[in-house]
Amino acid sequence: MSALEPRGHVVVIGGGITGLVAAYRLLHPTDTSHRPTRVTLVESSSNVGGKIRTSPFAGFSGIDEGPDSYLARVPAAGRLVRELGLGDELTNPTASHAAIMHGRLHPIPDGLMMGVPTGAMSLARSGLLTWRAKIRAGMEPILPSSGDHGDSVGNFVRQRFGRQVHELLVDPLVGGIYAADTNTFSLATVPQLADLAAGRSVLLTARRRRRTNPPSSDPIFETPRAGLSALTETLRARITGAGGTVNVDTSVIRVSRDGSAYRVETSNGSTIDADAIVIASPAATTAPIVAELSDDVARVLATTEHASVVMVTLRATGPDLTRFAGMSGYLVPKPDQNRVTAVSFGSNKWAHWKPHDDSMIMRVSLGRDGARTDDLLHEWSDERLVEQVIDEVRSHTGVVFEPHEHRVTRWEASFPQYRPGHLERITHIESVLERDAPGVRLAGASIRGIGIAACITQAESAATAIRAHIARAEHLRD
Ligand SMILES: Cc1cc2nc3c(=O)[nH]c(=O)nc-3n(C[C@H](O)[C@H](O)[C@H](O)COP(=O)(O)OP(=O)(O)OC[C@H]3O[C@@H](n4cnc5c(N)ncnc54)[C@H](O)[C@@H]3O)c2cc1C
Repeated sequence: MSALEPRGHVVVIGGGITGLVAAYRLLHPTDTSHRPTRVTLVESSSNVGGKIRTSPFAGFSGIDEGPDSYLARVPAAGRLVRELGLGDELTNPTASHAAIMHGRLHPIPDGLMMGVPTGAMSLARSGLLTWRAKIRAGMEPILPSSGDHGDSVGNFVRQRFGRQVHELLVDPLVGGIYAADTNTFSLATVPQLADLAAGRSVLLTARRRRRTNPPSSDPIFETPRAGLSALTETLRARITGAGGTVNVDTSVIRVSRDGSAYRVETSNGSTIDADAIVIASPAATTAPIVAELSDDVARVLATTEHASVVMVTLRATGPDLTRFAGMSGYLVPKPDQNRVTAVSFGSNKWAHWKPHDDSMIMRVSLGRDGARTDDLLHEWSDERLVEQVIDEVRSHTGVVFEPHEHRVTRWEASFPQYRPGHLERITHIESVLERDAPGVRLAGASIRGIGIAACITQAESAATAIRAHIARAEHLRD
């Protein structure tokens, strides 16, 4: 058998970033002594990318409708993007100065980690918190270890720093990233906070970390100038270029076991035989797919809740918009929230989104976990959503602007919500699958990390595990 002859057939379910990276990595192993695998990726919609979607707007060929960048400091993400040849296409945010809207816009204090203070001084200078709240937060190092926080970000932060730090900093920052209500969001799944929570005191742990590991000045986020679809389209081209198959407009409805192999049934009546499977579809869709393999796994996945958001993208003009110069945007904490949760001044944040005239591109997010979104998704017209955005930005900042172009993207059930105990439940279902369906791996935003970089990391480790499974099965057969 030649060293390059493919080994086994893997079906990848879901063509979001996770499924695409898993398929790519099975065809292009990092260790070139490994044989690639035969891969079929099955995607239910008409294109790959999942939550990554870039489309023309304001005369630009590509402005993102969902994510606009990924965490550059996660090694697997930066490495993969450069390996794909996109290194020269990458750019970083030009404006990083953001604010919290509480009565008025307050600059976000320096030195926060996901909203959690890592030093007392910048908090002391901020006008966002009352003096009482600052003194309460400053007492953190002398408090005894945290009591039982029930794996809730909100409980933990309130115990350590008091109500205002939670409500005005951590909840909008963490909540803004995951569309979450941090009261019911698992602390253990936010790695930066879980790390700081491991010691007795957050501030003392942060000080020790700064000494051993001084903060890096490297950019936190990066993205291809053409938009994130450049990443998913490149992955698709590399998959098919290496002999992989990408079947779009095909939903997987069931996976069953057939001895040491698997059968994948699709909505168009076809059945695909596989030696192993990576399932990278969202939890709610995955649940019925795996029901025949394990009731237990299906039940856990079916109970995963998701939040919906609406993204309104605008090209606007107005003399007062210059007041936002140098600002990347602002977050609206719950006490000040109506429908808008975050406003991103896209053309301040990204130099390559700057229109040639005096207009500005904004991306405004509405909706989060625990807030009413069904009307935004199903009842309100695009025009009504735009009116709402104009009214709310005016009431937040006093700035009046005129929209010349708008685009509304309704992201229904798009953000999995990691409830307290999430990682224990995932560890449990992974061990059930290991026992009952050893060639099946779950990966993606519903499983072990929301966000593109976390999905890439999961996809790479799923590919490694699948390759090892196939090698083991082949060895047993020989
Ligand atoms: C508005 C928004 C903004 C975001 N901003 C950022 C950001 O700036 N940075 C960041 O890192 N992350 C961001 N995220 C999060 C990030 O985009 C997602 O977590 C990530 O892209 C999810 O990738 P995935 O592959 O796990 O899932 P998905 O992208 O959901 O892909 C799953 C795929 O499975 C397919 N599928 C479903 N059912 C089936 C089936 N039965 N058969 C076959 N295929 C199926 C779906 O059609 C989909 O293509 C954002 C998300 C949203 C919604």
